[in-house]
Amino acid sequence: MSTFVGPARVRYAPSPTGEPHIGNIRTAIWSWLFARHTGGQFLVRIEDTDQSREVEGSVGRILESLRWLGLTWDEGPDIGGPYAPYVQSKRLDDYHAAARRLLDSDNAYRCFCTPERLDALRKEQQAERRSPGYDGLCRSIPAAEATARAASEKFVVRFKVPHEGSTTVEDLLRGPITVENRTLDDFVILKSDGFPTYHLAHPVDDTAMHITHVTRGDEWLPSAPRHALIFDALGYPRPIYVHNAIILAPGGGKLSKRHGAKSVLEFADDGYLPDAIVNFLCITGWGHGDDTVLSREELINVFDMADLSLAPATFDIEKLNWMNGVYLRNMQPEDLVEQIAARLDRDLPPEVPRPLDRANLAAIAPLIRERIQLLSEVLGFVDFFYATDIPTPPVEQFLVKRWREKAPEAAAALAAAVEAIAGAAWSANGLEETLRAAAAAAGVPVGDLFSLIRLAVTGKAVTPPLFESMEIVGAEACLARLRAAEAALRAAS
Ligand code: GLU
Repeated sequence: MSTFVGPARVRYAPSPTGEPHIGNIRTAIWSWLFARHTGGQFLVRIEDTDQSREVEGSVGRILESLRWLGLTWDEGPDIGGPYAPYVQSKRLDDYHAAARRLLDSDNAYRCFCTPERLDALRKEQQAERRSPGYDGLCRSIPAAEATARAASEKFVVRFKVPHEGSTTVEDLLRGPITVENRTLDDFVILKSDGFPTYHLAHPVDDTAMHITHVTRGDEWLPSAPRHALIFDALGYPRPIYVHNAIILAPGGGKLSKRHGAKSVLEFADDGYLPDAIVNFLCITGWGHGDDTVLSREELINVFDMADLSLAPATFDIEKLNWMNGVYLRNMQPEDLVEQIAARLDRDLPPEVPRPLDRANLAAIAPLIRERIQLLSEVLGFVDFFYATDIPTPPVEQFLVKRWREKAPEAAAALAAAVEAIAGAAWSANGLEETLRAAAAAAGVPVGDLFSLIRLAVTGKAVTPPLFESMEIVGAEACLARLRAAEAALRAAS
């Protein structure tokens, strides 16, 4: 049962500080699913108020990641919407107006403390093992004096946290969370460069944009009471908070690239499918009974924010790889062909003529679909289909197991194979039958003959099914490669 009956307005609010990491993207996925589940809207808002941390090109990469995942947005920086702009650096007037209201209502004050003083204060607090925070020195400057000084001095605006009482925040997953106000310091809401801090920008924007649910990482939980104080002081209704537990590395600890946690676009590059990533990240920290493979439509139907897990989830790359394989296998054959074509277009050398022959790929796809988990594995399975010239592998590679130190015998076995199939009808079934008979006639176990043929025809020891592959490679190329291998083995005798 859904906890929210009306259409939700939710947002993904990344800071453009680099590639979105998967924990952050999981929040976007959950928000998107919730918007679609409730028939509401999903917004994208760029939170670029910390200009020093901005990384060029991030906004483009963020939007590209969402697009690749199929997380469509209804309002955002590129498409606008009723509450545009959706980029915080373009909304400075709104934050200034809010700060002004907070100053006028005596909920905020200007602070003229220099960075040096704040630094000294921090060191003193550390030395005395006191909790860090602003000591309120400028809180008592009379308003008229502060206004006058502001004309010539640098200042920040701080929120005047009440010294008494407590603040309670409701979190959808955790219930009420109460903190004593005296444990909060007078935090900065407007910086000296005129940009707001997140603490101010979040209440201002989420109110202006009519956000119903704020879904974000639980690193924001300690700040939530500050945000609640601002909502209240500005007379804004508070949104419903949903703080998400983090994703942990297998065995605990911080998730890093080493555990396979890459950016979304790197996952795309590595041959993952967007549906598999959406499904996998969605169920990392949320579950629907024992079901793991859920289509996007199913996820939209059953997903509810209220069911998110409070415990940190573990990132399981093996499970993701498995799931990606399932999605590849379940794909419509023509879609799989297109996915493979797109991948090979990228991965095959430029000499291979484009566009790739779809009929040929339609024959190849069923041979590999059970063998691959990632699209990046395709090339390794199929490159020999596209090679015009496959050099005969070094003879030592042929001379293993039964053929160890038996080059003449191996050459004879290949000669028998060539003789049996040259001029025969070229079909997988026919080839198999003929070559089984040839192995029996030569007194060679079928597996040993087939491994010689496989290596000669494909240049590899592990390939898609041999006879189907030979049918696709064609008689002329197969026979030429078999004869070349035979000659090499004779020469080595
Ligand atoms: N810009 C914040 C971040 O990237 C967003 C937090 C939020 O969703 O409110 O962490």
